[in-house]
Amino acid sequence: MTQHIADAFRFCPRCSAETKNLAASPFRCAECDFVFYFSPVAAVGGIIVNSNNELLFLVRGCDPGKGKLGLPGGFVDSGEALETSLLREVMEETSLRVTRSNYLCSFPNQYTYRGITIDVLDVFFKCEVDSFEPLTAQPGEVESFHIGRPTEEMLGRFAFESNRRAVEFFLSQE
Ligand SMILES: [Zn+2]
Repeated sequence: MTQHIADAFRFCPRCSAETKNLAASPFRCAECDFVFYFSPVAAVGGIIVNSNNELLFLVRGCDPGKGKLGLPGGFVDSGEALETSLLREVMEETSLRVTRSNYLCSFPNQYTYRGITIDVLDVFFKCEVDSFEPLTAQPGEVESFHIGRPTEEMLGRFAFESNRRAVEFFLSQE
């Protein structure tokens, strides 16, 4: 069973009063005026391209979407800029150093972890790296990599539709 985060706020986190408007957004506590907005969390994704115009895809090593395709990336930490997050996530997942990144597109996404679904805004960048030589899969997070031109079959194997749409957008801009 999965549940949207707004449905999990049955009680006020500040005063514990039970809400009479379950899943209302924003959450407003009638007892203590506590307000919480279920705004999307920011995440970044990198379309990393080599000199042959081939793209780097990863096979996800964990859920959600274990075994399915994805792009390097992840959630933006508090206090972090998108560009900084992109460099950090790409380094963590692939050991590659992004030398140049350009904004490409963004798509809404949803992310379900341990039965709770949150809204996410995925922001995608086209990335260049100084070399593909250090390519190493982050243990537990990344199963393996695939470098190549995306095929229809591959586009059907993405864990997240937002990632597939970003690749399609990239291809439409070439
Ligand atoms: Zn309250």
